[in-house]
Amino acid sequence: MTKGTQAFGKKHNKSHVLCRRCGKSSYHVQKATCASCGYPSPKMRRYQWGKKALRRRTEGTGRMRYLKTIPRKAKNGFREGTVAKPTK
Ligand SMILES: [Zn+2]
Repeated sequence: MTKGTQAFGKKHNKSHVLCRRCGKSSYHVQKATCASCGYPSPKMRRYQWGKKALRRRTEGTGRMRYLKTIPRKAKNGFREGTVAKPTK
């Protein structure tokens, strides 16, 4: 009759869709919250019992567009507005 068992044919309602903050399919449509990151709460949902999950989404796991320039700038004391001397 049906593909798979008969109960499988009833599974056609999505409870979770893609979260716009964390990108996981954990945003609950009726509750309007994300089970993974807690969106729309301003703070990210994080627990110490989920250490691996923290590790996967903390600082340094993305592109680090701003933070990756900081060690280089700190080495030179955050100077600005100077021009490099011509090397000979
Ligand atoms: Zn989320």
